[in-house]
Amino acid sequence: ESALVWFRRDLRDYDHAALYHALKSARRVWCAFVFDSDILEALPGRSDRRVDFIRESLAELHVALQAKGGGLMVRHGPAAAEIAALARQLGVAAVFANRDYEPRAKARDAAVAADLERDGIALHLFKDQAVFDGDEVLTKGGTPYTVFTPYKNCWLGKLEDFHVRPYPVDRYSGHLAPPPDGGGVPSLADIGFLPTDLERIGVVPGMSGGAARWQDFRQRLERYAEQRDFPAVKGVSYLSVYLRFGCLSIRQLAGEAWRSGGPGAATWLSELIWRDFYFMVLDRFPQLPDGCFKPEFDRVLWDEAPALLAAWREGRTGYPLVDAAMRQLAQTGWMHNRLRMVVASFLTKDLGLDWRLGEQHFADLLLDFDLSANNGGWQWAASTGCDAQPWFRIFNPITQSEKFDPQGRFIRRYVPELAGVPDKHIHAPWRMAPLEQQAAGVIIGRDYPAPVVDHNLARQRTLARFEAVKGK
Ligand code: FAD
Repeated sequence: ESALVWFRRDLRDYDHAALYHALKSARRVWCAFVFDSDILEALPGRSDRRVDFIRESLAELHVALQAKGGGLMVRHGPAAAEIAALARQLGVAAVFANRDYEPRAKARDAAVAADLERDGIALHLFKDQAVFDGDEVLTKGGTPYTVFTPYKNCWLGKLEDFHVRPYPVDRYSGHLAPPPDGGGVPSLADIGFLPTDLERIGVVPGMSGGAARWQDFRQRLERYAEQRDFPAVKGVSYLSVYLRFGCLSIRQLAGEAWRSGGPGAATWLSELIWRDFYFMVLDRFPQLPDGCFKPEFDRVLWDEAPALLAAWREGRTGYPLVDAAMRQLAQTGWMHNRLRMVVASFLTKDLGLDWRLGEQHFADLLLDFDLSANNGGWQWAASTGCDAQPWFRIFNPITQSEKFDPQGRFIRRYVPELAGVPDKHIHAPWRMAPLEQQAAGVIIGRDYPAPVVDHNLARQRTLARFEAVKGK
């Protein structure tokens, strides 16, 4: 019997559920990836770091599979049709893939399954991108959790060595079959894309890039709890893009964090549990991703203010920490988690704009963009989502700045106009007197914007905006 493994967001050749099960059950196993034209056409531009990252990761995966006697066939077109055609052409008995929790991916997989079934070909889906699936961590009443902390406690209570044990792919890798056409990966130009600056920004794609970053972070894991909130410090793992595209295995990372214990590892494991939590939420709550997790907030009347939205997107709101963060996103395709919370709160609570506008901007630019975490994070910050806090949590962008970037080191890195501003004014430079501005080498309103809104007034408006729909 033969089988086809359909790679999607799991670009590695080890500890891989679908690959393992295919190899175990079939004598000849082919591997394929489809550049889905439906997804590619919807991207905001023709130069996209994510497409570049995927292409480079596929090139490495192809070589790794070749070394084991296989190889990768890469197609370009509508994924459902391409994979079904390939399965028929190869005459396989089954297609193996890892489960995806996004509504569109679920619909695509259902369509592929129905199509293949007409020819008696099975589609087998496996849990791989999460430690626990949406139906594994449930309340006593059998319903999904809507709040993180009890979910996390239940998750930790359930975890056993079995759940994080790697799939021993190599045990059966002799079953890998070389692609009939030799396989190989198209160039960016072949799929209609332009080169990007991925290399310049220091992102090394693929399993090797992921492994190197993980080795680097392991040395810092024990300091994670103290350092993770300070964007000027190298305190977090920077692994999100590798988890997004499966260049690293979640079982390996969660397993190591779980076994190593200690406050740093426990805090970091918590972040990996948030990842599972948001997969579960997206999978189990049909109001997502377009509607508010708490449906009463679908009635919130957001402002329409294109000029304010543009100021936010371009990092010129006059609030230094917000602007530095937005410029970090534009330049590097990544933003520190503390800052994602700060700028999301700022868009929704200070500018009064719909969280979906910010969600879309992040989706366009984040290298690690993941619908589940992005939607979850935005709704959390907008207070329309899974948050145990009441709706009136409103971050103060100045105190956040004072707390998490006390000397303005991060701000100065991305907002060089403010390089000469003394520490005590770096968080609210408009408070400098004209002479102080001159001495600092920046005139507010000329060289750097005056604040586009007043936080205290905006706060009152937000309270009123939410009060209007509360309990209705
Ligand atoms: P670390 O702090 O080292 O965390 C390790 C891993 O845990 C991350 O790589 C990620 O996979 C996972 N993780 C951490 N925090 C979260 C979280 N809150 N939710 C889900 N998973 C988490 N993360 C994304 O991967 N993609 C997104 O599109 C995304 N959008 C976000 C939008 C908003 C508004 C907010 C507040 C958060 C968002 N996050 C998103 C979560 C988080 O900010 C990033 O995962 C993190 O900053 C990535 O950096 P890191 O790998 O160094 O994280």
